[in-house]
Amino acid sequence: MYLNYIWATDRMSYMKNKKKMQPYKGCIFCGVAKGKLGVINKVIYKDKMAMVILNVFPYNRGHVQVIPIRHVEALEDLKDEERDHLFKLVARSIKMVKKAFEPKGFNLGMNIGGELTGASIKHIHVQVVPRYKRDLGFMEVTGSTKVMPITLDQVQKKLKKYAYLLKGDK
Ligand SMILES: [Zn+2]
Repeated sequence: MYLNYIWATDRMSYMKNKKKMQPYKGCIFCGVAKGKLGVINKVIYKDKMAMVILNVFPYNRGHVQVIPIRHVEALEDLKDEERDHLFKLVARSIKMVKKAFEPKGFNLGMNIGGELTGASIKHIHVQVVPRYKRDLGFMEVTGSTKVMPITLDQVQKKLKKYAYLLKGDK
């Protein structure tokens, strides 16, 4: 019998960093919005009403979340201008991820209403999940393991290159 190894050497720096961070209690998205310590900061873009951050447990490379800055747990509780802005950023995020990674399609998702819906974070957010032709491999199907061909830092770097699209620039 032999063992298979998946090398994830970038985790070492993550584990080292973790020790230095303060534990953060409270809503993680509010923490990111306020730039608090202890929250893994993967912000691609932020303005007064909303932000676009990397999902740190991505389904695929380029998986981002579009989040209102204000802590709101129901879509209908957003002001019209906040909701309009949120979905404007969803559309622009699609544009950005398309430029960066050329996916074949997207899944968009919101889980509203707590645990029943699978929402682990109550602060509403829109998942923007790019889909690629071959995004289910052997490990995903048989091993409940996601093999990411690229690190989060690399994804962040690449998306930041196209983050100007989130401002509506051409
Ligand atoms: Zn919140």
